[in-house]
Amino acid sequence: MARATKLPEREQAARAALNRALEAGSEILARGGAALDAVQTAVQVLEDDPHFNAGRGSVFTHDGEVELDAAIMDGDGRRAGAVAAITRSRNPVAAARAVMEHSHHVLLAGPGADAFTLANGVEQVEPDYFHTAHRWSQLEKVREMGDGHFDADVKFGTVGAVARDTNGHVAAATSTGGLTGKRWGRIGDSPLIGAGTYADDRAGAVSATGSGEFYIREGVAHEICARLRLLGEDVQTAADVVQAETSALGGVGGVIVVGADGTPAWSYNTPSMYRGVASSGRANMVAIYGDEP
Ligand code: ASP
Repeated sequence: MARATKLPEREQAARAALNRALEAGSEILARGGAALDAVQTAVQVLEDDPHFNAGRGSVFTHDGEVELDAAIMDGDGRRAGAVAAITRSRNPVAAARAVMEHSHHVLLAGPGADAFTLANGVEQVEPDYFHTAHRWSQLEKVREMGDGHFDADVKFGTVGAVARDTNGHVAAATSTGGLTGKRWGRIGDSPLIGAGTYADDRAGAVSATGSGEFYIREGVAHEICARLRLLGEDVQTAADVVQAETSALGGVGGVIVVGADGTPAWSYNTPSMYRGVASSGRANMVAIYGDEP
């Protein structure tokens, strides 16, 4: 998102939420907790904040509804769960975790997935919980622009977290409302294991945001992990190479990565990307624009 188009209050609120998410996740890691719990907790903080396109602040579909996608993956055993086009779970990442832990499946979608979340004790909310004036005005703008328009200023804001814990396990989680004005049951990369989300203790963990169709075609999250594992590239190189390949296809967005040794990296081709890092013994860092340290 370009700097001039961001309202300072929204930016400040987003930075504060990023700091809260980092604190919540790193507090779990600092007491020896699991990377899986840390990424879920961090993502839930952002899902509860209306400034991100996930959970409470999700964008509207063409029909004025909210359809939520999320995934979570544990690098320990490569266990994974995901949901697509769900409408009633307050925290879609918790729904994804429930799929991972309480079903034999990896991805559940639509009304069946909503029924599953209800049956498995995932907190439910009324659909108007997700209705915010800001997202409604974005839908009106997209409707005016007509079908097929894709504009990062309007649509990004997916949330994701990656972490490595003191036992050497990594995990990734991603949650999104998708694209403003999406229709026909469109599902992006976020809930697709290997595209928007992947974790493998032998490689690292990845969460992506951006024009999902391109991230699906590139198989971004798995591709980064494959390069780490098979080529032995450092995390920054693997992230940059795969992001560049995705850009060459026409993709717009970025990735956050943590290596199996805990090294963080990110790569993006937008003017900015909300991001933050917490590691033991260092002050937390939150940044939005490309020229921030
Ligand atoms: N990647 C998401 C999707 O395509 C959108 C986003 O990252 O904002 O659904």
